[in-house]
Amino acid sequence: MITRREFYINGRWTAPAMPRDCQVIDPSTEEPCAVISLGDQADTDAAVAAARAALPLWAATPPAARRAAVVRILDQYNARVEDLAAAISLEMGAPIDMARTSQAPCLPWHLNNFLTAFDQIEWIRPLGLHSPTTRIAMEPIGVVGLITPWNWPMNQIALKVIPALLAGCTCVLKPSEESPLSAMIFAEFCHGAGLPSGVFNLVNGDGAGVGSQLSSHPDVEMISFTGSTRAGRAISLTAAQTLKRVTLELGGKGANLIFADADEKAVERGVRHLMNNSGQSCNAPSRMLVERPYYERAITIASEVANSIKVGSAHESGKHIGPVVNKRQWNQIQTFIQQGIDEGARLVAGGPGLPEGFNRGFYVKPTVFADVRPGMTVERQEIFGPVLCMIPFDTEAEAVQIANDTAYGLTNYVQSQDGARRNRLARQLRSGMVEMNGVARGAGAPFGGVKSSGRAREGGVWGIEEFLEVKAISGWDIAA
Ligand code: NAD
Repeated sequence: MITRREFYINGRWTAPAMPRDCQVIDPSTEEPCAVISLGDQADTDAAVAAARAALPLWAATPPAARRAAVVRILDQYNARVEDLAAAISLEMGAPIDMARTSQAPCLPWHLNNFLTAFDQIEWIRPLGLHSPTTRIAMEPIGVVGLITPWNWPMNQIALKVIPALLAGCTCVLKPSEESPLSAMIFAEFCHGAGLPSGVFNLVNGDGAGVGSQLSSHPDVEMISFTGSTRAGRAISLTAAQTLKRVTLELGGKGANLIFADADEKAVERGVRHLMNNSGQSCNAPSRMLVERPYYERAITIASEVANSIKVGSAHESGKHIGPVVNKRQWNQIQTFIQQGIDEGARLVAGGPGLPEGFNRGFYVKPTVFADVRPGMTVERQEIFGPVLCMIPFDTEAEAVQIANDTAYGLTNYVQSQDGARRNRLARQLRSGMVEMNGVARGAGAPFGGVKSSGRAREGGVWGIEEFLEVKAISGWDIAA
């Protein structure tokens, strides 16, 4: 059993002010695998005070030196990637190979993209020829609170901590209490990289505790949050009291529009994309909308693909999907599956209960519902599990209408060989991102949503700018 009760505050591992043990459960076995402590107000205050004290020096550190410090985090990662992958796999159930090849590498991927973006930032620039003495300066917002979820733990930490540091902010990270182990390894990277004390701090805790202490803290200028829409609302309300900047990356219910002229791999690709990470991705294409002439064929392919996806322990090598993160999530997914059946959707793969051969672990059968109608619970709610909803459509306009008729707006997907149609749809779909024909967003493209998916933009230059204030200066001496 791993024991990690300390927090990383002011450059040191520090005992909690008031120990409050919290077990981390291995979702593959349902056994406790680690004990951490949940912080309280005194820990949060100490971390915020350390960040506040470190801010003037870090904000004044030349950009090149901040950049060099971030590069040293990458060196630390390269030396310990296996530890990081093992921690992620243990705490949230990503199969170990997937943790090595997809989860852990989110850190170097985002870090390198941020370095490229960072090199393009003009920290101070003229407004324009019409006003020669006006300058626009980009300055760090200050002490930031970073609250992250468990589903892609290193992805979210990288998308927040790296740009905050590059921008010149100091920070307090509160990782999810479900996935604290990888976050503590990340803190070791920051320590090993020689970041000045107080620039990066980590306090473990839950949402009601450290989470709300950060969002209500008078010395925290900004909260960057990724997680559920419910928590995003709560944070916005709390943060309003101190008028913080709040950036939110929330849930999703992505539509994947598959036209009859789509490439032959489109359905399989969509199913695998959804099932990846056991369906626990906010940008999962969880509603598959299929043009009527291709609909029955698509159902056959989708059910075959779902039935071929193996479920297994996160500790085993292979291309299977692992368990979902915890009992609460497992119960919730089971409830959704039952509601799908009760509301008349056609179950064509998977279904309720543990997959065959399992009597413990939070495993879910890869499940496909056909004949889902707009408005059914499974079509409305973010299930966050390996459950696909298939819906037929007759016209392009109907497809857009169904796709947009959701509270969410993170990523939508289009599969068609007709380029003009793709371009048209890309503009009509209400979401922060549209991915077409399986082409992934380019390096440095922004990630974020609209409506109840939150309105933040993470990654690339946009991701750094979220941590910057824009200052307008007039009367600048252009000769000095
Ligand atoms: P969650 O909202 O329960 O928890 C996320 C984080 O917020 C955790 O660190 C938690 O401790 C903290 N938290 C919870 N309540 C809080 C509160 N009132 N105040 C402050 N902090 C609070 O979500 P989860 O179950 O950990 O993650 C799953 C959700 O995250 C899904 O809805 C998913 O779609 C979403 N998500 C979104 C993105 C995105 O980029 N849009 C990425 C990953 C996950």
